[in-house]
Amino acid sequence: MNQINIHSKINSARDLVEKVLAKHEKPVVACSFGKNSMVVLHMVWQFKPDVHVLFNDTLMEYPDTYKFKREVTQKWQLNIIETKPNKTFWWIVENYGFPLFSRKGHADPSKNCCRYLKEYPIDRVLRKHKFDLYFTGLSRHESRLREFSAKKYGNYFYSKRSKHWKCHPIQDWTNEDIWKYHKIYDIPHNTLYDKTPPNGFDLRTGCWCCTIPIRYGKIEFLRMNYPHLWKLLLSKVLGKVLLQQKLGINAPQTQIEHLMQIKPCLFDKY
Ligand code: SF4
Repeated sequence: MNQINIHSKINSARDLVEKVLAKHEKPVVACSFGKNSMVVLHMVWQFKPDVHVLFNDTLMEYPDTYKFKREVTQKWQLNIIETKPNKTFWWIVENYGFPLFSRKGHADPSKNCCRYLKEYPIDRVLRKHKFDLYFTGLSRHESRLREFSAKKYGNYFYSKRSKHWKCHPIQDWTNEDIWKYHKIYDIPHNTLYDKTPPNGFDLRTGCWCCTIPIRYGKIEFLRMNYPHLWKLLLSKVLGKVLLQQKLGINAPQTQIEHLMQIKPCLFDKY
């Protein structure tokens, strides 16, 4: 039954991809080199191997993502365009706070962070290349906002804000569907997914430094799988901020580094 279900989902998504490709002159596939965007990239690439592929490099992607991007780009001979932000994550933290904790006068650091690292660089590239169709691997199951958007706009619509058409061919797919597609077509996957996440932590590609999912085990995930990145993030003020939130103390850097050595799990949650 499940197999029939996935094959009918694949056929619908492929039909949509084929239909919209026939209507547009200049399509682009947004690709984070995560499991969802690899499915959409694979579908579009089969119909149009020279399609432009947009990789938004926040400069803070996981090391596995950079490695995987290089491998797939070479193997599939991708026509890739990479964006770069004008401001770094560390500049944003200094000026707005971590995407979670706010500084006085800057109420929404995560909004500002995503603007500088994602929205502005992507908008610049889309404007420059005048793409008329934008494929993504968004799924309605990823967040309430995406569920709302899926209900409101469907999987193919004109975005007045972006001034191009958008197509989300696998919007209704579950994680299980995504992995079934990977298996059926034997497409490669980012080794990030081979890491072990703590219970309840949703493993996603994107910025390794993002502090929004701390509550769900992000710091523990970094500590267990990327100790050098964990150390960097905590040493760059986050350790101090976490101790303030958790224990209400204003610890000096030497004490933070000592605690990182003797009780690293202290920083896992607040
Ligand atoms: S996902 Fe997090 S770290 Fe990345 S741009 Fe958005 S707020 Fe910043």
